[in-house]
Amino acid sequence: QRFSSRTTFKASDLRLNLTRHPGPKPEDPNKCIFGKHFTDHMLAVEWNLKTGWGVPVIKPLENISLHPATSVFHYATEQLFEGMKAYRTVDNRIAMFRPMENMNRMNRTAKRACLPEFDNEELVKCLAELVRVEHEWVPHSTTASLYMRPTMIGTEPSLGVNMSSSALLYCILCPVGPYFDTGSFSPVSLMADPTYIRAAKGGSGAYKLGSNYGPTIRIQQEAIKRGCQQVLWLYGEDHQVTEVGTMNVFVYWINEDGEKELATMPLGEGIVLPGVTRSSLIELAHEWDEFKVTERIITMADVSKALNENRMLEMFGAGTACVVCPIDKILYMDQTLEIPTMENGPEIASRFYKELTDIQYGRIPHEWSYTV
Ligand code: PMP
Repeated sequence: QRFSSRTTFKASDLRLNLTRHPGPKPEDPNKCIFGKHFTDHMLAVEWNLKTGWGVPVIKPLENISLHPATSVFHYATEQLFEGMKAYRTVDNRIAMFRPMENMNRMNRTAKRACLPEFDNEELVKCLAELVRVEHEWVPHSTTASLYMRPTMIGTEPSLGVNMSSSALLYCILCPVGPYFDTGSFSPVSLMADPTYIRAAKGGSGAYKLGSNYGPTIRIQQEAIKRGCQQVLWLYGEDHQVTEVGTMNVFVYWINEDGEKELATMPLGEGIVLPGVTRSSLIELAHEWDEFKVTERIITMADVSKALNENRMLEMFGAGTACVVCPIDKILYMDQTLEIPTMENGPEIASRFYKELTDIQYGRIPHEWSYTV
């Protein structure tokens, strides 16, 4: 897509309005709870239908004041977001991981939400500047990082279920500690209850819309009540294994033809979110070229059969928060399925974890690392 001055904002127009009172940085970033402690500044860009995008600004983090009729408060589809991270590398650079992938997804979501699109590269450059301004907030640690939350909301103060004629794009940042606080993998147990679905064919599950997430919280509570840590989202009469919590899901097994195979749900049906970690794992596995890599439908019957025939090797979730998260139990139809992920190393999950964190923390130079 070609962008004109109206159809995108420009990083070269960026205005800086910096605080004279920077807040205290966390003493131990490894103890930071996700999403509670924010940095001093935010990036903000306004848009309206008449004049297009305004000038991007980096300014002290502040409250947003909006009319109570504003579309984002009524129709959650007028809210979308991204989740990505900046890392301090071992040679003391600061790098984002595949930020263009997040920008592509954000623009796809914007289109789906009838919110304005923008030039990916311009937002990456603005985000890089925000991270440079907040460089002291990027943890000096190879287990912590700086989480970045680009967001866009519809800001038109009217109740019509219509496309919003104005919008606000902003990004806030927060330091985050490791997902696994013991420093090593701890596997998760999952509730797989076909009564609930996260997304459906023809729906919006493939987009990072706030409205996909709100309704999942109660089901997550239900999982906890039943003694599980997260939800395994099933879909369809055949109980397809689609996602784990807010992660894509992978199985590594010996398939029915006796081949070692890494498999994950295909994107074609529009039921799963196209994760940046998901595509990174698929690309890495293709490069290794040591086993079959397939995007295909996996059902609970396939999982049960593989377990019964001792063909299941590993199951894990994949996402920005944890990179990979091993699965050890699935509560399904009143039965607890024991997944032998940890007994098997987990060989592949650990290898993915090492390879991706080596790239993220700059131990291995790679084109996926974007130095700010
Ligand atoms: N699925 C869902 C529903 C998610 O919210 C996320 C997190 N963005 C993912 C998968 C993983 O995506 P990524 O690897 O880009 O973090």
